Amino acid sequence: MTEEKFMLKLNNFINGNFVSPVDDVYMNNYNPSTGEVYSMVPDSSDKDVELAVEAASKALAGWSAKSPAERSVYLYRIADLIEKHIGHLSEAESKDQGKTIKTARTVDIPRSAANFRFYAGQILYTTEPSSAHHVMGQEYLNYTIRAPVGVCGLISPWNLPLYLLTWKIAPAIALGNTCVCKPSEITPMTAFILCDILNEAGLPPGVVNMVFGTGPRAGSALVQHPKVPCISFTGGTKTGEVITKLSSPYHKKLSLELGGKNPAIVFDDCNFEECVEVLVRSSFSNQGEICLCNSRIFVQDTVYERFVEKFVERVKQLKVGDPADETCDMGALISEDHLKKIEYYVDLAKQEGGRIMCGGQRAQVGDADSKFRKGYFYQPTVIVDCKPDSRTMQEEIFGPVVGIYHFSTEQQALSYANDIQYGLSSSVWTKDLDKAHRVAAKVECGICWVNCWMVRDLKTPFGGSKASGVGREGGLHSVEFYTECKNICIKL
Ligand code: NAD
Repeated sequence: MTEEKFMLKLNNFINGNFVSPVDDVYMNNYNPSTGEVYSMVPDSSDKDVELAVEAASKALAGWSAKSPAERSVYLYRIADLIEKHIGHLSEAESKDQGKTIKTARTVDIPRSAANFRFYAGQILYTTEPSSAHHVMGQEYLNYTIRAPVGVCGLISPWNLPLYLLTWKIAPAIALGNTCVCKPSEITPMTAFILCDILNEAGLPPGVVNMVFGTGPRAGSALVQHPKVPCISFTGGTKTGEVITKLSSPYHKKLSLELGGKNPAIVFDDCNFEECVEVLVRSSFSNQGEICLCNSRIFVQDTVYERFVEKFVERVKQLKVGDPADETCDMGALISEDHLKKIEYYVDLAKQEGGRIMCGGQRAQVGDADSKFRKGYFYQPTVIVDCKPDSRTMQEEIFGPVVGIYHFSTEQQALSYANDIQYGLSSSVWTKDLDKAHRVAAKVECGICWVNCWMVRDLKTPFGGSKASGVGREGGLHSVEFYTECKNICIKL
């Protein structure tokens, strides 16, 4: 892998080859920490999608005919190579996305390798074709087989670029499908590097294809392609709606991982110090740009003031700056548009009666002529007093902004937490085990953490309820999604 390759023009990856987009149109790719263009990304069209789907369709028969054990070897190899190139991949992710190198090296890239390694192992033990059988009154035998769905369209967002893309690629190909990926147009770099890794691992051409470009052009062409029976999408709720509509005439399998506005519920009997520490992390990791971040914290009124004081004190210690600086806790936001969106919401919070306890403005990084002066940095921001039904507390901001509000009873905490369109994740803080089980069961969401946050076991179901998504992936849920099951009934 050469440095020059990712400093200049990126290309699509089709049938194992790097190819220019058919129309030869490229877009600027920005480094969020400097605001400068540092590479060019294909602005692919339906013509490129067509070529990629053709390659994936051709590769399908050979790839799906391989045994799970044979496919597993490739996945293990890819995992090893991601780890071998962790330095290069972490630097690229950090430069492309704005996240700190520390986050890329300890979260994004290791978890990308883990995605391949997990499914490499899982298919050895859980995906033998016959999954269930029974005999009806000695006369008929029923059994069920699972087959790959076919060419999968995998569409991913910009916040955890390689991590979320590999969360789709790994199960899709492990289960014998081939795929066409459409990574976010604003963070294409590690997906591009991954293509080199796939070749280095010897993955047969066409099994994974990568088409770079915008959602409305390349993305929607993929969603509407009749030879792509399955779409796994992670991104915003509004885009999820568009994808649902666009794909409906084709009756595709759809998995939608969408937006969130995740509550944390803090009871007065929690382990206070640990709770504050973890919630600072759960609010501001990756600049608050993780779908699982807590952006609404409801604190029991008996510890509310103490909590706000301690929380703000800790947040003020977070260091925002050069993503490559190992001592920084937060890097740059993804784009200038996103920075403006954050500013809009902080202004709105003030209009809604919110008090800014810390942050509330852009962060200045470096001196007047530093290259970071045009970067998209924002201070970690804590807002109190916005009512649970205010727009600040209801709409997804997806940045370094958290709202804190108080409650008195368990019932009130639950109604604040649940009275919202979203239902992705939550965290509950108490030492009372009965209460923990009770509240965890009643918070409307797909994933609830009790006294912890973002602990991931890849066997468990991942996904959201309400406007946060449709379907679950992870473990056997991915097996269900990326395979089509068929019952066969034989007269004995
Ligand atoms: P986005 O919806 O703007 O884009 C996501 C992807 O969809 C990109 O690749 C984009 O190009 C593509 N896309 C856009 N329009 C499309 C269309 N019409 N047809 C096909 N593809 C299209 O989201 P984003 O801004 O990249 O990411 C942020 C959002 O993602 C937030 O809402 C966040 O909560 C959500 N997210 C959810 C999860 C989860 O697991 N639930 C994880 C990460 C991010």
